[in-house]
Amino acid sequence: MGIECPRCNQSGKKVKSITVKHLVTESLAEKVPDKEIYYLCMSEDCDVVYYNLDREDIFNRTEIKVPIWFKKDADPKYICYCSKVTEEEIIDAVINQGAENMNDVIKITGAMENGNCTLNNPLGRCCGSIIMETINKAIKANK
Ligand SMILES: [Zn+2]
Repeated sequence: MGIECPRCNQSGKKVKSITVKHLVTESLAEKVPDKEIYYLCMSEDCDVVYYNLDREDIFNRTEIKVPIWFKKDADPKYICYCSKVTEEEIIDAVINQGAENMNDVIKITGAMENGNCTLNNPLGRCCGSIIMETINKAIKANK
């Protein structure tokens, strides 16, 4: 079970501190301990991005170097943070360039070409499943 966000009380997803350290602004990076578990607040409307187990270390959107794709008004909405591929580019590949699956999208957009997800992705995980979700969403919208 995830620990609840101190602001919106929704449960967040576990992220290792190595990811948090890499994504917070330079001056805050040194405050992030090496081996600690953080949580990513998954709610669209909440300004909190990361918080720790005792909910005392909290990082807001303005303290993170990249936009968090599922947060309201994220711009750009990166899906693949490593290769800087946006939701818009994936949807365009499906709707305007005939992509039907993961391989097509990777070929057209260059997603997942340079993978270093532990550091670049806000969840510290491979973006593959989110690319898949985005493809499915685009296919549905295109019908
Ligand atoms: Zn929250």
